[in-house]
Amino acid sequence: MKKYDIVVVGGGFAGAAAAISAGRLGKSVLLIEKYNCLGGAACYDLVNPFMPYFTTDPVSGERIDLSCGLFTEIADRLRALGGAKNDKRSLPFNEEVLKYLLNTMVIESGVDLLYQTYVIGVKKNGERIKSVCISNVSGNSEIEADCFIDATGDANLAVMARCPYKLGREDDNLCQPMTLCFRLAGVKSYDSELKARINALYSEYQACGKIKNPRENVLIFRTLVDDILHFNTTRVVKLDPTNAEDVTRAEIIAREQVFEMYTFLRENFVEFSESTLISTGMQIGVRESRMIEGEYTLTKEDLLSCSRFDDSIAVCNYDIDIHSPDGSGTSHYYFPKGEYYAIPYRCLIPKNAENLLVAGRCVSATHDAQASLRIMPTCATLGEAAGVAAVLSLLNNARVRDVDIAQLREILKNNGAKVD
Ligand SMILES: Cc1cc2nc3c(=O)[nH]c(=O)nc-3n(C[C@H](O)[C@H](O)[C@H](O)COP(=O)(O)OP(=O)(O)OC[C@H]3O[C@@H](n4cnc5c(N)ncnc54)[C@H](O)[C@@H]3O)c2cc1C
Repeated sequence: MKKYDIVVVGGGFAGAAAAISAGRLGKSVLLIEKYNCLGGAACYDLVNPFMPYFTTDPVSGERIDLSCGLFTEIADRLRALGGAKNDKRSLPFNEEVLKYLLNTMVIESGVDLLYQTYVIGVKKNGERIKSVCISNVSGNSEIEADCFIDATGDANLAVMARCPYKLGREDDNLCQPMTLCFRLAGVKSYDSELKARINALYSEYQACGKIKNPRENVLIFRTLVDDILHFNTTRVVKLDPTNAEDVTRAEIIAREQVFEMYTFLRENFVEFSESTLISTGMQIGVRESRMIEGEYTLTKEDLLSCSRFDDSIAVCNYDIDIHSPDGSGTSHYYFPKGEYYAIPYRCLIPKNAENLLVAGRCVSATHDAQASLRIMPTCATLGEAAGVAAVLSLLNNARVRDVDIAQLREILKNNGAKVD
């Protein structure tokens, strides 16, 4: 049986960053991903752009980056490869360049990759995970490690290891809506005036039942290519992203909504009359599903009071952006200029497993708090912290909950990360 120091499951922003940071510290690391590329939701859900990961100094007006360290390196290298431009608010990027870049960075860090491989189980010895069971084209096998990182977005590994978790909103377990993103090419022009006309007609059509999509408006982003627009506008509510039948229904409903929108735009707006539907996400996007019950659960109150913690390992100020889990509407709480909150290391530590860390959108947070920290730049910073912490736990022969916090924060800061 193969054995590694660290196994990372899931190659989204959290998993890629975790593997790179652990690999750079000299440990043997295996990154397991069920698809054929890294980037996670950015690639298979077509999620774009990077939401704002900086604030502005209220006095000097100077930009203060919040997701730094490895995320800054990814953004800079993307720009250098022509895969992103300079950003004003959000940062659009080319996911094909991202896939190439993340392969390069992972390999440079000495990390082994296993693509097209599904983790289907774990073996535990008491509170310690001993190995993961994997399934791929070679068949089923097992891989041992001393420490594991769950970066699956859905906390799949933590669930297999019987760690406690919660699903969605506290009172009814409903999660934020699922969305199938898509792109239209051959759009003649797009500006704020057209946006207003589209939304006015959309509301009219919705009111008389000609549009079934429950989303309150049409959410469109520009891409790096002038005549290609990105749509993050389908909305499937009240289905469980961790239930296979529900996810299948969601995929079918969302694809109907894609065609509804495409037809609506082509038939009513000359700018779209010759547009082509060039792509939809390989799977419907999941904003929220399971969150582990960790040593600390980040709350809305922590966010509103811009909390700091002794064990802060990342910071964020993305708005509390809640797409209604049961219908129309999106609520926002925007942080004032210069303000942001910190995320403690304890949110990454699940109960019931002493050599497992969790990173990305499934860390320990309430529904409201997850609505802010879930963005890709923050997931990368959480992954980077998990990778360093996993290495420290091995170097000091300690449980992940006993990692030396001062040392963890020092290494992150030396790598350029902003931890508080
Ligand atoms: C519709 C939508 C729009 C969004 N819009 C934005 C936006 O505009 N900007 C922004 O910054 N963020 C946005 N987000 C949020 C952001 O995309 C995600 O929260 C973030 O990408 C999550 O990163 P992650 O690394 O935690 O998980 P993921 O990116 O989901 O990565 C998890 C990885 O684990 C793999 N995996 C899962 N289970 C297994 C298994 N058992 N075995 C092997 N591999 C496994 C998956 O294949 C995947 O690659 C959006 C999300 C959605 C769904």
